[in-house]
Amino acid sequence: MDFEFSAEDQAFREEVATFLDQELTPEMRRNASRTTTVFADKDLAMQWQAILVAKGWAVPAWPEEYGGTGWTATRKYLFGEQLAKAGAPGLIPLGLRMLAPVLFKYGTDEQKSHYLPRMLSGEHYWCQGYSEPGSGSDLSSLKTTAVKEGDDYIVNGTKIWTTHAQFADHIFCLVRTDSSGRPQQGITFLLMSMDTPGIAVEPIITMAADHEVNQVFFDAVRIPQSNRVGPEHEGWTVAKYLLEFERGGGGAAARIKVSLKHLKVIAQTETEGGPPLWESNAFRNRVNVLEIQLSALQFAEHATLARLSAGGSPGAGSSLAKNTSVDIDQRLSELKLEAIHHYAMPHGNLISMNGHSEPRVGPEYAETVTPRYLNSRAASIFGGTKEVQKNIIAKTVLGL
Ligand SMILES: Cc1cc2nc3c(=O)[nH]c(=O)nc-3n(C[C@H](O)[C@H](O)[C@H](O)COP(=O)(O)OP(=O)(O)OC[C@H]3O[C@@H](n4cnc5c(N)ncnc54)[C@H](O)[C@@H]3O)c2cc1C
Repeated sequence: MDFEFSAEDQAFREEVATFLDQELTPEMRRNASRTTTVFADKDLAMQWQAILVAKGWAVPAWPEEYGGTGWTATRKYLFGEQLAKAGAPGLIPLGLRMLAPVLFKYGTDEQKSHYLPRMLSGEHYWCQGYSEPGSGSDLSSLKTTAVKEGDDYIVNGTKIWTTHAQFADHIFCLVRTDSSGRPQQGITFLLMSMDTPGIAVEPIITMAADHEVNQVFFDAVRIPQSNRVGPEHEGWTVAKYLLEFERGGGGAAARIKVSLKHLKVIAQTETEGGPPLWESNAFRNRVNVLEIQLSALQFAEHATLARLSAGGSPGAGSSLAKNTSVDIDQRLSELKLEAIHHYAMPHGNLISMNGHSEPRVGPEYAETVTPRYLNSRAASIFGGTKEVQKNIIAKTVLGL
């Protein structure tokens, strides 16, 4: 396998780096570096999205007629790598990266022409209504019902862990339209406006003290049948297709490299009355182990890229990459917590997503460590838990 990028691809990488130098303001970089939640702050993400839309680089993976770039898999990867390296805020993937591919494949022409431009302009902001209390990993057991009445469905039930539902004006939902067959049969994929009467959002405050997830309630919510994506009762196929995009993405290694740099700054600076932690062989060895695993992750990403470039699919590669990147990320966050010593006391370090922040205790580099440590526990749960990914690997790679 050739790990060198072609001269043209390297020139492209330079072009992206120059663009980022010019367009990503120090304030945006700083705000992005202070993100302690899974998604960037909504306003920041939308500000950055508008800049990328103007450049034509917001949705590289979309078909060109809808605003995609037509880049090769390698260029998309290099673009993601440069964004991470420059510390750009992440775009919110729920509409752009998860729902959009579903609309391209299963949406009607009307749905495509109505929703896609509004998603891109930021007029519509989406959230994902898949999980329910008791139906997470076992998603097909979901119970929210949609019963036909005239041209509409009447929806009743609840969704949970709905990220950014408090900001969203639209939700895509899995609902049960038939209970007579196997659980995977009788599920339907619906699009809903959040201001439809009967929808209520209740916040869930996490142990990191952030408000990122919610519970959404549906009480006799009337949704036109024309808001259905794909055939009635066959939403499971649509749902699984969307999950391929939720779990994919790649490019984690570049993001983790930035986090590793942050750890090194802390360990080289923080003394706690003695020599910096970085001078401890035992501590450095633990960092080295992570650094080696990170290199392995990067090679694995390149191997996936080679498969994609040859027309293949990531296969179990995305499950392996997810578990490995989450493991490294979580262990990095633990080392940071150790390295900042008493500044890890959470009460002084909490940065709220809602613009309210407590007075900082300690140096700026310590500010995000505790909330990020706490928030990053969720990464082995959302998008398919660690154990579920292991089951996929066991089946598809080990043939068990
Ligand atoms: C921060 C965050 C954001 C989220 N955002 C969204 C969102 O926007 N929209 C949405 O719909 N959902 C969202 N989720 C929900 C997420 O998809 C579910 O939490 C996840 O699917 C796990 O489901 P569960 O929480 O019901 O846990 P369960 O499925 O009940 O799992 C509990 C434990 O059992 C293990 N387990 C379950 N099944 C198996 C098995 N077959 N083999 C081995 N072990 C198993 C799991 O690994 C886990 O350790 C979010 C979750 C989090 C934490």
